Amino acid sequence: MAERIKTILNRFKIWRSLKVRLFVIFFLMGIIPSFIMRAGIMENYEDRAIAVRISDVQTQLKIIANHLITYNYLQDPSSEVINAELEQLSSLYNGRVLIINGNLKVVKDTYGISEGKTIISEEVIKCMKGTNTASHDAVNGFIEITIPIIETVSDKMATAETPGGTEVVRGVMLISVSTDTIVTTMEILNRKALIIESIMIFCIFAIALLLAQLITWPFDRVSGAISEVKEGYTNDPITVSDYLETEQIANAFNSLLERMKMLDDSRKEFVANVSHELKTPITSVKVLADSLLAQQDVPPELYHEFMVDIAQEVEREDKIINDLLALVKMDKSAAQLNISVVNINELTEIILKRLRPIARKNNVEVTLISKREVIAEVDEVKVSLILTNLVENAIKYNKEQGRVEVIVDADHQFFTIQVSDTGIGIPEESIGQIYERFYRVDKSHSREIGGTGLGLAITKSAVLLHRGSIKVESTEGEGTTFLVKIPLTRVLA
Ligand code: ADP
Repeated sequence: MAERIKTILNRFKIWRSLKVRLFVIFFLMGIIPSFIMRAGIMENYEDRAIAVRISDVQTQLKIIANHLITYNYLQDPSSEVINAELEQLSSLYNGRVLIINGNLKVVKDTYGISEGKTIISEEVIKCMKGTNTASHDAVNGFIEITIPIIETVSDKMATAETPGGTEVVRGVMLISVSTDTIVTTMEILNRKALIIESIMIFCIFAIALLLAQLITWPFDRVSGAISEVKEGYTNDPITVSDYLETEQIANAFNSLLERMKMLDDSRKEFVANVSHELKTPITSVKVLADSLLAQQDVPPELYHEFMVDIAQEVEREDKIINDLLALVKMDKSAAQLNISVVNINELTEIILKRLRPIARKNNVEVTLISKREVIAEVDEVKVSLILTNLVENAIKYNKEQGRVEVIVDADHQFFTIQVSDTGIGIPEESIGQIYERFYRVDKSHSREIGGTGLGLAITKSAVLLHRGSIKVESTEGEGTTFLVKIPLTRVLA
């Protein structure tokens, strides 16, 4: 049930506003007690007024009852004094008085309707036994009160059954009193209470609105500040320290902003680097072509020489573009990995075979140590890129007569590829940057040997896509060791 009410309420968009909820809570908290108070006071007043009326009437009746005995009214109801008293009583309370004798016969009715008739009602019978009764009929608007007419037996009249001093019930006085005046007073009171209540509701409404507005104001400030950043008026961090909660939101937003700025900066830097890297070969090509065009009767050997240089530059441009494309592909999610079961030893062997001509050219010896057979669920193309880049770097940044050692191993969870070389090594201060796009320790040397500065960035992305890790240890002048660790089976995100 509660769940259903919640779903229905949530369908109204306005109900999801904290301000509206707080307003409703404050408003209800204000008006419910005032409603209860009014109802309670009115109810209490009615009970009280009726009790007072009953007690007043009973006092009057007791006085008259004594008179009835004195004037022996039950035997002879002709007493002018008593009749006048009874008339006065009935007109005072806008009611009807009945005097009933011991035989339950009505000796006097101020309405004159029931005289001589016998009355057998529960109240009268009870009263005959000496008990006062009073009942309120709220529907018809009257109170019915009975009191016994008691005579104290004098010594003169004493008998064996009723000795002197005994109180004997001689009859009953029954009066029906209208409650019209009480109802009218109640109506007036109710009207006044309603006016006060309306004023109160208006005040509570205004206070609830103000409170809800005041409490949610810091949140409005947070969204205002965020909008300002969003619309580009400012780039400064926002501060809304009114509440701990708003401070937390502001802090979270500021760190998001910081991160976005960093991403934006790195994107700008990347675009600048890409433009620069792509421009360099093109500039060389243009310079070579212009110098050929500027000369007349150029000998064919010079043409040939320049054309070789131009071809080299075009090849370089092609390599940069290919590396960039590979990097862009890596940026896609791990879901796009093309997983298959791959024999890592065989794959490494194929790649080393492909790289051996370069190694031979550089006079570098490449060896493979397969510690065990490794079968893994990986993206073959991406693992090939990892191996190619690491081994190619180990060859490129090696010394004459240098060595490269590739070790393939595995435990029950991961396989490892370790590529060690006896090359130039990486300076300590550069170790942290080698995975950055376009970073090269020695730009001109790297360019000379055909590096784009993207190889290790591609390698790291490929390793991370496989939820693996890459580590490097290097000593300048002695050599470098890269260690890649990748799960044997595919790890789902
Ligand atoms: P590049 O295409 O220039 O080789 P990489 O991203 O593959 O770019 O490598 C970044 C830089 O890290 C290289 O320019 C080189 O200075 C350094 N480097 C990478 N591998 C080695 C290695 N095995 N030995 C020494 N330096 C290395």
